[in-house]
Amino acid sequence: MPFRPSQRINALPPYLFVEIDRKKAAAIEAGRDAINFGIGDPDLPTPGFVVERLARAAADTSTHRYPSGVGSPAFRKGVANFMRRRYGVSLDPNGEILALIGSKEGIGHLPLAVINPGDRVLAPDPAYPVYHSGTIFAGGQHVVLPLDPERGWLPDFDKVPTEAARGAALMFLNYPNNPTGACAPLEFFERAVAFARRNDLLLAHDAAYNEMYYGAEPPPSVLQVPGAKDVAIEFHSASKSFNMTGWRIGFAAGNRDVLAALAKIKANMDSGQFAAVQEAAVAAFDQYDCEELRRNRKTYGRRCRALAAALSEIGFAAGEPQATFYVWAKAPAGYDGMAVVNKLLDEAAIVCVPGAGFGARGRDFVRFAMTVPQERVETAVARMRDLEW
Ligand SMILES: *Cc1c(COP(=O)(O)O)cnc(C)c1O
Repeated sequence: MPFRPSQRINALPPYLFVEIDRKKAAAIEAGRDAINFGIGDPDLPTPGFVVERLARAAADTSTHRYPSGVGSPAFRKGVANFMRRRYGVSLDPNGEILALIGSKEGIGHLPLAVINPGDRVLAPDPAYPVYHSGTIFAGGQHVVLPLDPERGWLPDFDKVPTEAARGAALMFLNYPNNPTGACAPLEFFERAVAFARRNDLLLAHDAAYNEMYYGAEPPPSVLQVPGAKDVAIEFHSASKSFNMTGWRIGFAAGNRDVLAALAKIKANMDSGQFAAVQEAAVAAFDQYDCEELRRNRKTYGRRCRALAAALSEIGFAAGEPQATFYVWAKAPAGYDGMAVVNKLLDEAAIVCVPGAGFGARGRDFVRFAMTVPQERVETAVARMRDLEW
């Protein structure tokens, strides 16, 4: 019998990155010196104290058995401490915090826990693609929430058509934002919470980049808004903030009933993250204000500034991000994002990703992940300057 993938697999939006991966592999195969600004995966190492804690925890044989699916009591308590110290938010470790195998896992599973087939899900455009794919897997209907460049890539809730807002069961937001690098102030989260309340929908905020910022003020949590727990949950991750993408650890915090439903999905899908990784993650979150993170921010910030300045000279519209390690640049006149990606790959062996991969509104943009050492950034800049635009 010939294999046919399920309808939900066929319903996924086309994955633009596959073709770019193929071209990148071909360039490397041909012996070209490719510089990869593609996927956002930190090149800097996990802080040493986290690695040491993992080694110690892994040597403790009590960590070798099935972990607690919702997170060990020590993990949930450690997270509650972090949320109180960093944001002044108080959470009950028993029910208001749920361990995740990376925040992507929780984001992808959430729609299965909170929506019914046919329900509408508001997700930003441009955005991290998992909001859309998780919605499709749960049989939901993806409704675009346009991000407005004139408003600093924030959506205008007053412009969401009433029937779209009323009919929606869930809304995703993400600040600091991938791919645009934009941040949202607490007042924006106040409006978002009010919108969720008014329309009786769940607000799921993705805070994966909250410790990777360049301004003086660290980005806020949606849970700082009074009463947010009634209508919201928030996703956090050790991945980007602590250079721990390979470790697969994050958490969800907020509304207790939502987290209980998500925990039920997870109990039937996975059995939680290795207890030793949970223990090491607590060590990381405990040290959110450590010297290593300050150094990382400086390093990523320097790379972003160098590339954004060079792109602006060439004719892109590119600003430095307020947060995240992405440079989001509008293509020069005469190009769309895909044309820039192809030109850079073909003529300079530079890999970046087309904005269209994040939604239709990203069509004229490209995203560079600045997870490449400074001297390689400078080589890339020199190659781009030599091209004819
Ligand atoms: C990287 C990323 C995540 C997922 O990170 P995990 O490694 O799964 O914790 C979530 N949201 C956004 C916007 C991201 O860019």
